[in-house]
Formats: sequence, C-alpha cells, structure tokens
Amino acid sequence: MRPPGIHDVLAARRRIDGLVVRTPATAYAELDAAVRDAGAAGTSVVVKHENIQHTGAFKVRGALNLLLGLDAAARGRGIVAYSTGNHAQALAYAARRTGTRCTVVMPLDPNPVKERAVRALGAEVVLRGATFDDARTHAEHVAAGTGARLVGAANEPALVAGVATATLELLEQDPDLDVLVVPVGGGSGATGACLVAAAVAPDVQVVAVQSDASPAAHDSWRAGELLSRPNRTRAEGLAVGCGFGLTQQVLRDHLADFLLVTDDDITRAQRLYLTAARTVAEGAGAAALAAVLAHPQRFAGRRVGVVCSGGNASEAELVRALGSA
Ligand SMILES: *Cc1c(COP(=O)(O)O)cnc(C)c1O
Repeated sequence: MRPPGIHDVLAARRRIDGLVVRTPATAYAELDAAVRDAGAAGTSVVVKHENIQHTGAFKVRGALNLLLGLDAAARGRGIVAYSTGNHAQALAYAARRTGTRCTVVMPLDPNPVKERAVRALGAEVVLRGATFDDARTHAEHVAAGTGARLVGAANEPALVAGVATATLELLEQDPDLDVLVVPVGGGSGATGACLVAAAVAPDVQVVAVQSDASPAAHDSWRAGELLSRPNRTRAEGLAVGCGFGLTQQVLRDHLADFLLVTDDDITRAQRLYLTAARTVAEGAGAAALAAVLAHPQRFAGRRVGVVCSGGNASEAELVRALGSA
C-alpha cells in the first residue's frame, strides 16, 4: 500500500475545508511553568486543540476526506466499521455530513455512552460478537454482502491524508516550532505529521508517544518489523495491539524518536490540562504532554507543539485525573 504524499494532504485540505474546525494552537504560561518545573529548562509548549474538533477528536478530518473522496456510486453503497471509540464517531459524523449510510458493528454489551453517541450521529449500530475480532468478522460479512466500504482504523491512506491537515495548520499557526509530539495508536496521526513536516518543515522533528501498557507501534518501530504486543492501556485511543504496515513504513523514514509513558503519567497530564490550561483531554489526548513531562531533557530549550488529539473523557476518567497528584 502506497502512503499518501503532500499533494494528497493538500487535496484533503481543499476537500474538508469549511467542514472541520481550524482548531487553535495555544500557549499557556502555567503549562510552560509546569514543564520547566519538571526539568525541561527553557521549553515552551503550544497545544494544538483537536479536543474541540467536531466529535471531540482529530479523526473526523480523515473520515471526511475518505468519504468525500469516494465517488457517488461507492458512497451510495455506504460504509461499515467496527469500533466503539472515536473512529466510529468520526465516520458516523462524516457519513451524516455526506449523506452516506454508515453501519457500525460493536461487540455485545458496548459502553452505552459510546453506543448512544454513534446512534445520535445517525449511524446504524449492530451489536454482534463477544469481542472485537467477532465484531470485525461480522463487519467484513456486512461489507461482502452489501458492497459497503469497510473502513479500518489504520492502513487507510485517505485517513492519513485527512488527519495530516491538522499538522499543516499547526505549522502555519506556529512557524517557530522545533518539535511536534504526537500520540500513537495505529499511527495515522503521527504518519500524517511526518509526511507534512518532511515536506514543508524538514527541520521540525516529529516525536511519537505510546503508553507502555500498549507498546506495539513503539516496539515495531524500534525493531523495524511489525509486532503484536499486550494491549492494556486505559487510554482508549492508544489501545492498539499490533503495528500496521502503512504507518510503520513512513514512521521508519521520518520519525525522530518514539517515547513511552505510563498510564499514570497520562492521568497526571490530564490533570495538568484541567488545572493549568482549562482543557478537557481524554487519556490519548494528554499523552503528548505526558511525554514532555516524563522526558524533560529531551525537550529542553525547544518550542514544542503537543497535539491534544481528543477530549472525549468519561466522567470517571476526569474524577481519576483530578484525584491524581
Ligand atoms: C485514535 C486516536 C489516537 C491515535 O491515533 P492513531 O492515528 O490511531 O495513531 C490518539 N488520540 C485520540 C484522541 C484518538 O482518538
């Protein structure tokens, strides 16, 4: 599978222009103070606020690009996905905006909040199977039977090109950045950041972050081969158990570094977002900031763009964050 190029990212930007939020890139004095206290002398942080993107996460950029790139006949056959999280919400949102039928297969007994959110966006929810693998098998079956396009969460060039538009915006909003820090699940977001930085700002380093409780992409990148790993992180957007070919290929060429943080580091970063930046970040959304705090020397003296990739935190998650120290 061929990764997208910068021309695909520019085409994506034209397609989704006006349909996505040009999210702010904001500096906070209190956040800088906390980062410096953690040991990153002279570091300044700029937050890219994809937590306030439609559906509360950056993924909607990719979903809209994918759907708007389908021809009318393909759109008429609809799409099908298996997911409970931000991927499902992004596709359901984009499907509604483009008048496309969207079916989301979830395992039996899903998180009711997420099921409700996807239904509220107008998608048909099918509950099938005890596990995600069962749900995927059923989604494949639906796709084979109806001709609907099965949309995976990784290995989708149109999703990568769409989410890459967030990096294009950020580099325009703050041309002085030295480093971009991006959270990784399947790797689409980091891959998009790498493609854009390499094309328009080659001196900007891209650093990826994963939870050490779900380190498949990190370990695949370090080893140079696709690996499966235990998948136990609390941060849903980062909960992926294997490396993917499309994203690893680009990360191998362009990524400057890949850092790990603990789930507790992530929870503390969520708290700091709440208290120092009045920002609601879900776990995955706080992972980039967590990496700056956990690896301060790596960022000393640099101007760092941290991608706050999503804001869909549950109440329980926020209570945990506020209770952390
Ligand atoms: C999906 C997701 C990620 C990880 O993105 P990938 O493109 O899968 O690496 C990070 N943060 C949030 C909020 C997400 O929804």
